[in-house]
Amino acid sequence: ELKTPIAVAYAANDALLNFNQAEEKTQRDKYLRICQEQLQRLSRLVEQILSMSMERRRTFRLHPEELSLQEIVERLVEQHKLKAGKPVHTSTDIEPQDLTVLADRTHFSNILSNLLDNAIKFSHHNSVIKVETTERKNKIFISVKDTGIGIPKEDLKLIWDRFYKSDLSRGKDKKGTGLGLSITREIIHSHNEHINVISTPGEGSEFIFSLPLSEENDEED
Ligand code: ADP
Repeated sequence: ELKTPIAVAYAANDALLNFNQAEEKTQRDKYLRICQEQLQRLSRLVEQILSMSMERRRTFRLHPEELSLQEIVERLVEQHKLKAGKPVHTSTDIEPQDLTVLADRTHFSNILSNLLDNAIKFSHHNSVIKVETTERKNKIFISVKDTGIGIPKEDLKLIWDRFYKSDLSRGKDKKGTGLGLSITREIIHSHNEHINVISTPGEGSEFIFSLPLSEENDEED
């Protein structure tokens, strides 16, 4: 995974330097674009590997705090819409609006970002992405649902493995690293919680994970 983008960028650079490919603008732009894409891919991989190895460090500690769900969800959904690069419709339904969860702020944001990233990446133009919450037995279940390409049944168990990408998504999207869900699940497990997926190819996917409600919600009851 790390060697391929290096080799491709190296070859494109080589063509520019040694095979007169820099003289004609269309050719030059083509090779420069290849270099840029490969560097972006490398940078995504390095970023994810760093966050994964941080997870694994012995010193790794969670800093759970009371977080306003509405505030974080709205902010992240807006950010992802802006950088989606295609029209995406979103809806959020957080009830009650002042709901707070007990979670590590950075890690919670990473979980949600990974799921939103995927929901957008594996959806067509103008698809709909919903973030909804359900409260049950002192837990909050957060669902990120898309109307995208879906996941074949035989892949549902494999998508949590490191570097795994389903055939359906491989052709469509070369940007993924296959690390997002494995890291996401690790972070959720480190909170002693769970994540599940329901998906139908051609219709869409729904990822649901749980978090403990903070005590603040009880006091208000
Ligand atoms: P990446 O998104 O970088 O490829 P992930 O670990 O986040 O890696 O996801 C692994 C694979 O699971 C993806 O490559 C894709 O095949 C599948 N997948 C994840 N989320 C979705 C989704 N919302 N819709 C369809 N397929 C998905």
